[in-house]
Amino acid sequence: MSLQQDIDAASAALEGQVIAWRRDLHAHPELGNREFRTASLVAEHLRSLGFDEVKTGVAHTGVVGLLKGGKPGGANGGVVALRADMDGLPVTEEVELPFASKVRAVWNGEEVGVMHACGHDCHVAILMGVASILAGLREQLPGSVKFIFQPAEEMPPEGEEGGAALMIKEGALENPTPGAIFGLHVTSRQPAGVIGYRPGPTMASSDKLKITVQGKQTHGAAPWLGVDPIVTSAQIVLGLQTIVSRTLDLNREPAVVTIGAIKGGVRENIIPDSVEMRGTIRSFDEGMRDAIHERITTLAEGISAASRATCKVCITKNYPVTRNDPVLTEQMVPTLTRVASTGPRPMGIEVVPKATGAEDFSFFQRLIPGLFFFVGVTPPDIEPSKAYSNHSPRFVVDERGLEVGVRALAHLAVDYLTSKAG
Ligand SMILES: [Zn+2]
Ligand SMILES: [Zn+2]
Repeated sequence: MSLQQDIDAASAALEGQVIAWRRDLHAHPELGNREFRTASLVAEHLRSLGFDEVKTGVAHTGVVGLLKGGKPGGANGGVVALRADMDGLPVTEEVELPFASKVRAVWNGEEVGVMHACGHDCHVAILMGVASILAGLREQLPGSVKFIFQPAEEMPPEGEEGGAALMIKEGALENPTPGAIFGLHVTSRQPAGVIGYRPGPTMASSDKLKITVQGKQTHGAAPWLGVDPIVTSAQIVLGLQTIVSRTLDLNREPAVVTIGAIKGGVRENIIPDSVEMRGTIRSFDEGMRDAIHERITTLAEGISAASRATCKVCITKNYPVTRNDPVLTEQMVPTLTRVASTGPRPMGIEVVPKATGAEDFSFFQRLIPGLFFFVGVTPPDIEPSKAYSNHSPRFVVDERGLEVGVRALAHLAVDYLTSKAG
């Protein structure tokens, strides 16, 4: 049997185990930087498979495993990385399942329900399955595979560092440095087992915006005696909406500027001293991202000055654009196509639209070529556009998608290493 057939056979044999892992993880979700149980399951599993290295405690709870193949790898690309994120969300599960989460925890000082509402339980189970398969075939692997189990993709708790950025800071991409990295996300937007991808910008950059407008408090009946930060803020909100609609070249990429919270004032007849606004900024191009930040600051300050108020603009850069390396994507699409058109339930592959959601897989892609793709998990009897989406308390996973995810990552790793080994 060829290596490809070996992978498919091993994946079929392992499907029940991967589903069992996923259900166990689903019943025991953990929040970002608190993935203690998940990380120890993962580390124990990798050790039991005879991995050459298993590093724990990377970026708090991350696990990095190295599996060395029995054949020499190519000079420049003898290492490939696979990544799964491990954290759950502060969401109270509303799905009735025997393995539904009943976990509660404290998030930023508040007691919350915890749920794998983004499907990271699937990602961990899938990558554990890939580890089993590739460890079983290690003598045939031309090079090494680095397994990155990452904490806190959904952002660490306030005041903590975490996620992909911290893993990189702590050396996850060094010793050895992979030539490429692959990752996937399960999605409600596609039927179970369908693979989705796109070359280039795929998911948005995500930045946090806070604007504090400082006026001068006065009686609501005598606005001329003070400076009204509420009217100023209203003008700023409207002004911000002209950045995307009037100043960006939308032939290049779309963008979003959203104000999601405004706070100011305590009663009807007092003009308050200040107003605070919070928002989010999404873009698909790093140049446009910088331009939006500059425009927001100029606009908010200009409108404030014209209103005799002052303002402070604070923009926190969260995640960069998730940008699939075009050359790597082109090279690996035949692999994904083969995976999607074979297996026990061939479902197919499609090029998906950009998504304005964000992913910290983007931090890895800034340093090495990466490909991030999607695997559908919506049951066939539900129209994907009507399915409860990732992050919903009613998000459900059709577990038939997991087997596709396992084969996809295993074949990507092996095909990539084989192509480099020549
Ligand atoms: Zn998410
Ligand atoms: Zn996610």
